[in-house]
Parts: sequence; C-alpha cells; structure tokens
Amino acid sequence: MSRYAPTFPTLLDGFSLETLERDRHSIFALSPGFDVIYVNPAYCAFWEANGGTPGFDTRSPIGVNLFDAIAGVTRSFYRERLERVLASGQRWENLYACPSAETHREYHQGIYPLKNAQGLVIINSLKVERPTDLDARTGAELELAYLQSGGLASQCSNCRRTLRNDDSGLWDWVPAWIADLPAYVSHTICPPCFEYYWK
Ligand SMILES: [Zn+2]
Repeated sequence: MSRYAPTFPTLLDGFSLETLERDRHSIFALSPGFDVIYVNPAYCAFWEANGGTPGFDTRSPIGVNLFDAIAGVTRSFYRERLERVLASGQRWENLYACPSAETHREYHQGIYPLKNAQGLVIINSLKVERPTDLDARTGAELELAYLQSGGLASQCSNCRRTLRNDDSGLWDWVPAWIADLPAYVSHTICPPCFEYYWK
C-alpha cells in the first residue's frame, strides 16, 4: 500500500517529506478537494493501535475523501473551516475530542495550507489538561514532564506546543502554559513550524 499520492512530494514547498515522515505525531494531508494524499507512519501506527479508529482506513487511504469519513455536524463544520484555510492561506488551530473506550483524549490540530492552495497538512498533538484545582503538585507534575535538563521547558512560539522531556519527540498542547507562562518556559520553534515558516 502507498501512504502518499505520487504528486504529494512535489507539493511540499513548505515542508520536507522526511520531516513529516519522522514526526511522532499523527499527520495527514489533503488535496484541495479534500481527498487524502498523505498519511505518515505515526498516523498509521495510531490508527492500528486504536483498532481501526478514528478517521479513514490507513491500509488504503489515498484518494479517500475526508468528508466520506466524517459524519453529521462535524462534516459541515470542517468543510467550512478547511475551505477558509485554503482560501486565506492562514494556518488554523482546532481542539477536538477523540475518546476511546478506556480514555478520554483531546487533541490539538494544526492545519497548515500548502503554498498556492495546493492542499493542507494536518498535524495532531495530544492536549494535556491541568486539573481545575491549581495546587503546587499539579505544577510540579507539568515540570516533571516538560522541564529539560537545563531547567527550562521548550514551547514553540508559533504553534505553542511544548516538547516532552522523555526523548519521545512529542509536542503537547498544554493549556496551563498558554494563558499563564511560567518564567522557566522558553520559546523555541518546533520542527514543522521551523520548516514551514523559516526555511
Ligand atoms: Zn510549532
């Protein structure tokens, strides 16, 4: 099976295929007509680990239309938003819930328009919530997960995801560190944002 349409690498003037392939987050890409033109290995691994959900079948994803894979109100919401991203050329961020039988998960989605409205690249990151009581231990738990060896946490100044300190290469959406940034959170650029905006 193929994970990308033959033309996909030529559309990537903002990203390199290698970076998307290496990324530990679930990433997929759509044509301007919202057909799937790419899924990365992390997307396939996530789909298989969750027993074939959510989204489209990663065993033969190419050419599947996104709007055949989603139903109900979500479908018109997404269509309207994705059309707006294509028309404006402006990146869009979205938070969505994706519960399984055992866990309730929420994701942060960054949607990057490819140049000349040739498609969309969609990067999904786990959202890490701070419990409602803001006690010291909760802050310490975040520090335990995100402080790097130098004592600073690294947040992407563009998409505002924060890098885990466990060598997983995963960048999480940490709401507690969006509105209220502790002094030990330093700004950096995550690999996809670096390629897309600075290269
Ligand atoms: Zn970023």
